[in-house]
Amino acid sequence: MKGTYVRTAECLDHLAPYLFAQIDKKRDALVEQGVDVISLGIGDPDLPTPDHIVDAMVDAVRKPENHRYPDYEGSLAYRTACADWMRCRFGVEVDPKTEVLALIGSKEGIAHLHTAFVDPGDYVLAPSIGYPVYSGGATLMSAQTYFMPMREGDGFLADFDSVPEDVLAKAKIMFLGYPNNPTGAVATGEYFDRAIAFCLEHDLLLAHDNAYSEIGFDGYRAPSILERPRARECCIEFFSLSKAYNMTGWRIAFAAGNAKAIAALGTVKNNLDSGQFTAIQDAAIVALTGSQQCIDDMCAIYERRRDLIVDALRAIGVECEKPRATIYVWAKVPHGYTSESFATELLERAHVIVTPGSGYGPDGEGYIRISLTTPDERLLEAVRRIKGIADLS
Ligand SMILES: *Cc1c(COP(=O)(O)O)cnc(C)c1O
Repeated sequence: MKGTYVRTAECLDHLAPYLFAQIDKKRDALVEQGVDVISLGIGDPDLPTPDHIVDAMVDAVRKPENHRYPDYEGSLAYRTACADWMRCRFGVEVDPKTEVLALIGSKEGIAHLHTAFVDPGDYVLAPSIGYPVYSGGATLMSAQTYFMPMREGDGFLADFDSVPEDVLAKAKIMFLGYPNNPTGAVATGEYFDRAIAFCLEHDLLLAHDNAYSEIGFDGYRAPSILERPRARECCIEFFSLSKAYNMTGWRIAFAAGNAKAIAALGTVKNNLDSGQFTAIQDAAIVALTGSQQCIDDMCAIYERRRDLIVDALRAIGVECEKPRATIYVWAKVPHGYTSESFATELLERAHVIVTPGSGYGPDGEGYIRISLTTPDERLLEAVRRIKGIADLS
C-alpha cells in the first residue's frame, strides 16, 4: 500500500477473518459487569500432564547434552519411540530413520506441509468442517482451498468424489482428520481405503490428522490410516502428544508415513527451525513408552463429562449424538437459530460460552461445538445453567 513504510504480503489479507469477535465482545461486556461466564469454547485439556512425564522432563532438563541444538529431524531415540508406539498401538511398522519426523506440535507440521507441497495457485482439498490450519496454511502459500462437503447424513465423512476435475488437476494435498475436530465423527477402514484409492488415482498426498487418536469412548479405539493397504504410497499421518497426554503447552508431535513426504517436510523444517528441545523429546519418549493407564483414566473423565453435557443439551431440546471420540460435543442448533445466534443465546441466558460451528468452515453453519476440557465443578455448573433455560424447541 502506498504511503506506508511497511508492506505486508498479500496472502495475509486473504486469511479467514476471526469469526468469534462478536461473541468475544459480548463476553467481555458481561465479565466487566461482574458476571461469572463459563467457557466451554476452548479445546485445551484442563487436566495436568501425568507426573511420570513431568518427572522425566525435570531429569532431562538437567542434562548438559540436552542444552545444545537438537537434531533437526528429532533424536533417533525419540523417532524410535514413535515407531515402537506405532507398532504397539496400531501394528504399523515404520522406519524411524526415514518414515518418522519429530514436530514442534502437529500444527507446525500441518502448516509447513503446504510449504513442501503447494505452489501459488495450486489447490489443497480440505474438509468443509475442520481444523482451520488446513486452509490457513494454503492461504499463506498463495494457494487455494477447495472445501469438500461434509454432511451429517454421511456421518461427516468428507465427500471427495464431488471435487470438480479442474480443481483436481491443480490439487496437491487432501487433508482428512478422524476422529474429527469439531464433529467428533470417526472414519471406517472402508472410507480410508476409498480415500487412499482416490489420492493414488489423482496423484494427491493424503495428509491424515490423527490428533485425537487416543481419546475414544465406549470402548472405541481410533485406527491409523497407515494400517490400510497402500497407505505408505501416498499418506502422511500426524500424531500429537498434546491431547493424548495433556501436553498442549509442551509442543511435541510427530509425522509418520510416506518417506518422500517425510523427507520433503523435513527439508522445509531444516530451513525454518532447528527442532524441538531434546529434553522435551526425552520426556515424550517416557510418555509413549511408559504406562498408558493415564490415557484410560483421561478417557473415563471425558466420557463422564460428555454424558453430562449431552444430557443437559437434550433437556433443553437440542439434538446431539454422543461422540465416540475427541473432546467435543457437536450439536445442531434449534430451529430458528444460526450457529452464532444460538451461541449468543447460551452466552446471554446461561452465561456459557460455546463455539459457533460456522468458524470451522462452510458446512459448520447450524451447529455449535462444546469442549469437554473444563474442570468437573465448572462443567456441572454450566450443565445446571443450560438446563435452567426453558425448553427451546
Ligand atoms: C489440537 C489439534 C491439533 C494441534 O495439535 P498440536 O500438536 O498441539 O499442534 C491438530 N489438529 C487438530 C484437529 C487439533 O484439534
